[in-house]
Amino acid sequence: TYNVNDFDSVDVVNSDRDHVWHHLAHHKPFEKTGPMVIVKGEGMRVWDAKGNEYLDAVSGAVWTVNVGYGRTEIADAVRDQLVTMNYFAQTAGNIPAAQFSKKLIEKMPGMNRVYFSNSGSEANEKAFKIVRQIAHKKYNGKKTKILYRERDYHGTTIATLSASGQHERRHQYGPFVPDFVEVPHCCEYRAQEGADMSQYGVWAANQIEKVILQEGPETIGALCLEPITAGGGVIEASTGYWPRVAEICKQYDILLHIDEVVCGLGRTGTWFGYQHYGVQPDIVTMAKGVASGYAAISCTVTTEAVFEMFKEEDDAKMGYFRDISTFGGCTAGPAAALVNMEIIENENLLENAAVQGEYLRESLKGLMSKHEIIGDVRGKGLLVGIELVKDRTTKEPVAESVVIAIAGHCMENGVIIGRTNRSFKELNNTICLAPALISTQQDMDRVV
Ligand code: PLP
Repeated sequence: TYNVNDFDSVDVVNSDRDHVWHHLAHHKPFEKTGPMVIVKGEGMRVWDAKGNEYLDAVSGAVWTVNVGYGRTEIADAVRDQLVTMNYFAQTAGNIPAAQFSKKLIEKMPGMNRVYFSNSGSEANEKAFKIVRQIAHKKYNGKKTKILYRERDYHGTTIATLSASGQHERRHQYGPFVPDFVEVPHCCEYRAQEGADMSQYGVWAANQIEKVILQEGPETIGALCLEPITAGGGVIEASTGYWPRVAEICKQYDILLHIDEVVCGLGRTGTWFGYQHYGVQPDIVTMAKGVASGYAAISCTVTTEAVFEMFKEEDDAKMGYFRDISTFGGCTAGPAAALVNMEIIENENLLENAAVQGEYLRESLKGLMSKHEIIGDVRGKGLLVGIELVKDRTTKEPVAESVVIAIAGHCMENGVIIGRTNRSFKELNNTICLAPALISTQQDMDRVV
């Protein structure tokens, strides 16, 4: 299926080295080693231009390819759709967008409207614009503030970075957009000093309330949270957190926006991460796993109540959502997304994610007796974090160079793993694993 002779690998690697600007990458080392160019994917595995095979334990490096590589059924559906009708602005509808929206909403009780765009950042920007416009329409220009949480990430644009609690990502990109306010995290392994550990989840949610009261509830339109913090260290909030968060939002008339860009579409063993916690969001954003990387697509999904606020009879008031995303009208995205959902259903991938994730975590915990460096193993479904420490009692984090060395060692041995971001202010001592939802026990054993 894959043949290094199908293309001139030296030319490809050299052209990449000389002309392509890679994402999130130091380019200096490429001068010596050459960049990695991925040329083929099949199931859980990818191959580079030099012919090396890897087991990909992070689904395309950034938890995206949920249903695995080489899905011809998605490619066929996209091809058929493209030759029939590839594009028309989403000011009009199209068949796959209508069909996919209906199917998606079936999995999201309480939600009802799907707004299409192209990336997680863009989906979040749309959500922020919805919140801001509601502030102007309904609250006289008040309630424009949006709360986000320390360690959560919501995107790469200036507004979404302004709403991100990963400070090394923000470093050197300011000034930022005003009216985004950070709230503390809920991370039991590294709980804040003075926290009430007998009911830590509730205590941590109450820290959000403190910020709301400091800022003034009348100034705050939304609270934006990842259901489980992904890139910030794979952190699930403690028991009691989410019901209290929902209660606080209701009490202060604050919209709950949940960013499912990583957790959505089965990653944690349910369709969406928030569905583990029994809360009802007002806005849900998603991207990555929506079409598993077979096409660029993201969605901003709202309740009908949110949508209703944009149904304005009087045209002069300009009360409708005056936003457009050119490529939100591409049909390849929803065509791919529809088949992606069918695969997840037909192959029982939600259940598989739960079962394999549990197996992976248990196996990793089994390594703790041998390796003092493993401080904590955590996550849900196939979203797994391994926090590395110098000493389990003091929890002093290992240097980032240690995590880099481990990732390099795995790569040399044919397994691609992820890790938290480059160091600036935060802890960067966590290995992240998010293998495709098709993972087998054998794949998990290999990763371990
Ligand atoms: N939200 C979360 C939780 C993410 O992890 C990411 C990307 O990693 C984004 C939003 C931004 O998505 P994108 O890179 O598609 O803009």
